[in-house]
Amino acid sequence: MIETPPYDFVVVGTGAGGLVGAIAAKLNGLNPLIIEKASVWGGTSALSGGGVWIPANPLMQRDGVADSIEDGLAYLDATVGDVGPASSRERRLAYLHNGPRMVLNLEEQGFAWRRAPRYPDYYPWLPGARIGRTIEGETFDGNRLGAWLKTLRSSGLPAVAINTDAAPQIPTAFRSLRSLFSTLGVVTKTLAFRLTGRVPLAVGRTLVGQLMAIVQRLGIPVRLDTPLRSLIEENGRIVGVVVGEGERILAPRGVLLCAGGFAKDAEYRMPLQGVTGEWSPASPDDTGDAHKIGAAFGADLALMDAATWFPVSIYPDGTINPGIWERTLPGSIIVDSSGQRYTNEAASYVDAGLAMFERDRVTPAIPSWLVFDSRYRNRYFFGSTPPGVTKAFVESGFFIQAATLEELAGKCDIDPDGLKRTVERVNVMAATGVDEDFGRGNNVYDHYYGDPTNRKNPSFGPIDKAPFFAVRQYPGDLSTKGGLMADEYARVLRPDGSVIEGLYAAGNCAAPVMGRTYPGAGATLGPSMVFAWIAARHSAGAN
Ligand SMILES: Cc1cc2nc3c(=O)[nH]c(=O)nc-3n(C[C@H](O)[C@H](O)[C@H](O)COP(=O)(O)OP(=O)(O)OC[C@H]3O[C@@H](n4cnc5c(N)ncnc54)[C@H](O)[C@@H]3O)c2cc1C
Repeated sequence: MIETPPYDFVVVGTGAGGLVGAIAAKLNGLNPLIIEKASVWGGTSALSGGGVWIPANPLMQRDGVADSIEDGLAYLDATVGDVGPASSRERRLAYLHNGPRMVLNLEEQGFAWRRAPRYPDYYPWLPGARIGRTIEGETFDGNRLGAWLKTLRSSGLPAVAINTDAAPQIPTAFRSLRSLFSTLGVVTKTLAFRLTGRVPLAVGRTLVGQLMAIVQRLGIPVRLDTPLRSLIEENGRIVGVVVGEGERILAPRGVLLCAGGFAKDAEYRMPLQGVTGEWSPASPDDTGDAHKIGAAFGADLALMDAATWFPVSIYPDGTINPGIWERTLPGSIIVDSSGQRYTNEAASYVDAGLAMFERDRVTPAIPSWLVFDSRYRNRYFFGSTPPGVTKAFVESGFFIQAATLEELAGKCDIDPDGLKRTVERVNVMAATGVDEDFGRGNNVYDHYYGDPTNRKNPSFGPIDKAPFFAVRQYPGDLSTKGGLMADEYARVLRPDGSVIEGLYAAGNCAAPVMGRTYPGAGATLGPSMVFAWIAARHSAGAN
């Protein structure tokens, strides 16, 4: 075994949380090391939409949008409810107080933020809700990362200068001038980057890209291909890590675990959640290592049944499409095998995913079917596929197409009478624009990914123009939520509530302050970054 010279503080993982934790450690006088098990960096954070949900953030203040810690707390209380100490009052307040501070701190280090002023909280009718709490990184030139650009984790999709508020305009680009101009803005900005030799990193990739640029400027060492294997404990305190083939790295000021969730460890996940993770677009390295290692050192685990559920479709090449607008735009519904709707399809993804599991307990609903008509297909993008482009999807079997609803039901093994009755009822309700069954489109969140030109209800409309289509829907997830119990300083706790000195956890390896729900866009990246920031400052004695 080789002993390497000690750092003060070891951060495990190069997602948004890990990078922020290392930056905060360095800025507060520690000498951190970041270790990453993969040969690429950025984790699921790099694959994400990059939205960060921070109530009362400084960008809102600058834009004159009223918000407060009190309203943030009221909203968290109303949405998360009582899920035990993972989301104690102390943790909620720690998140709310430190979120804006972290945003400013990163800004001082050169991080360029922008706000998504139109994105509503996911439960806009609850006390304390707001529109526009989500922030994200400005499009960033990847070349500024130098050699680190090559090892940035990628989904394989082309780099496009998109941003959160522009995304919902894309599917309706041919429906309204506003959507068209917004989408052309994305195209123009992307071209402007490309034609000047710059690489447009946006959403999750600008988030981790800008953070990595700060990490590099501060001279923080990052070791790829360095998996955490175990911890070093001395007199009940964690004082280092064991990595790779047994290399020991000492870290007298502690270890911050930011190693993500367990979406992709089928064996670990199946007994806890009843799914393998095959429908999750999370990073393949999201295998619960920190959960297992932390538990072996006496940590408590909580909310291990929870995930950021997200209905997905699977493209013929196996790519997972966590489609949000597909089920939100008018002219589509989701039905189970009996042909019945069972939820508001435009609800937040966690609720839509949970509804699929709940329905499946009474009627087979995995997969469910997204059913839509030709009007829908000819109006809107499906994922990144333009309206009307249908043939290849039908030929590959991804879209099931039929001239009548009865024929469609037969092809999908859906009860034909059930489907016919459901669609008839939807068409009657669509004439008034009121979904009396599930309230689809009765709040501003449902409209965010809707079609504003569908005036009676931007997210609800008739299905009556043949041919008809169906696409399988699975209850996927953006990653798991449950993890190591931690306190308001992100210190990992034992089942008796005592602190494991020297061990911190943030992000999807920590039990979530958001509980089983998802209050707004950015409700996992936000806590990952904020609690990592808190942890590092606590270790440095700065809190
Ligand atoms: C398509 C998509 C869109 C999303 N959009 C959003 C969004 O807009 N807003 C939002 O809040 N959330 C979003 N999410 C969810 C969000 O990306 C994750 O919840 C978040 O990235 C988790 O951050 P983390 O720091 O916990 O983990 P990660 O970002 O996954 O980082 C963990 C890192 O630890 C590394 N690691 C794992 N095990 C070890 C080990 N043993 N040793 C060393 N390193 C290890 C991993 O390789 C990884 O690099 C999205 C997810 C997806 C898939």
